[in-house]
Amino acid sequence: MTHLRDIEAQVLEGGEAITAEQALPLIALPDAELPDLVALAHRVRVHYCGEAVEVESLISAKTGGCPEDCAFCSQSARFPSPIQVHPFLPAKQVLASAKSSEELGATQFCIVVAVRGPDRALLDQVLEATAAIRRETSLDVHCSLGILTRDQARELSQSGVARYNHNLETARSYFPQIVSTHTWEERAETCRLVREEGMELCSGGIFGMGESWQQRVEFASELRELGPVEIPLNFLNPRPGTPLGDRPLLPPLEAIRICALFRLFFPRETVRYSGGRELVLRDLQALGLLAGVNALVIGNYLTTTGRAPEDDLRMLDDLGMPRAQGHRPASVPLP
Ligand code: SF4
Repeated sequence: MTHLRDIEAQVLEGGEAITAEQALPLIALPDAELPDLVALAHRVRVHYCGEAVEVESLISAKTGGCPEDCAFCSQSARFPSPIQVHPFLPAKQVLASAKSSEELGATQFCIVVAVRGPDRALLDQVLEATAAIRRETSLDVHCSLGILTRDQARELSQSGVARYNHNLETARSYFPQIVSTHTWEERAETCRLVREEGMELCSGGIFGMGESWQQRVEFASELRELGPVEIPLNFLNPRPGTPLGDRPLLPPLEAIRICALFRLFFPRETVRYSGGRELVLRDLQALGLLAGVNALVIGNYLTTTGRAPEDDLRMLDDLGMPRAQGHRPASVPLP
């Protein structure tokens, strides 16, 4: 408890996030004291971010057939995972999906494609869909297109893409166990380019892939150096056919501890519930929103289904948490 009181003073009064050293005793805190950690994470979230929760929806605009070998991913062409592969959807279809997300209550919409990085043709398709969404909805447009060149990052930024998602996935020390076709440093470099070219960076990872607690702390520290405004927390949903297809699910309280820990590492940033929460947290999903999480992906994920958006929106109502409004950057004129 003394450690928690010291951390509370440091984060809430001093405005300073926790260090890796300070995180280690929090990992060792007995489950009986987890509610104290959860309560502190919630106070920090409300103090710096307020009560509102950001609601985002995403579309897998191009699914499957990816040449990379990320061990958790059913979209890799190297694994025999049973998914519906499709090329980039027509812009009209992406726009229709964005409009229905907006009607459901989302203020952010993310276009995601399964590639190592975009080629010219794919980038043009993304830019066409982005322009249509910006013209016909009030959604903030985010993209996740893999590894970028500087010119590509600049083009996306100048086209009004507010935020770019590129997850680091896991700690640098564990990354080679998960991916062999590209390096952690290549991912980090795209994260840097995104910010240098004027987009907000969204970068997080997946938990439950066999990484240790120390590696989760390492990961949080490495991520912080890249300056993301948003950190998506995914919990592994082991997909058939992938090398991680047989991994056990994370225990729910372990996932809650991860949420709280990341809030203390990122007091002012958006910490988003992403894939796997329904499966891993089950009845404890609301608890994560009281443990530092302040954003949700609603609807379906890339290759797995989420629960009904209405259930998530009711959960926010039940918790008395309003939905955040969008914040489209004013500097980029509409097409
Ligand atoms: S995570 Fe992305 S880069 Fe890796 S295999 Fe899946 S789609 Fe490809």
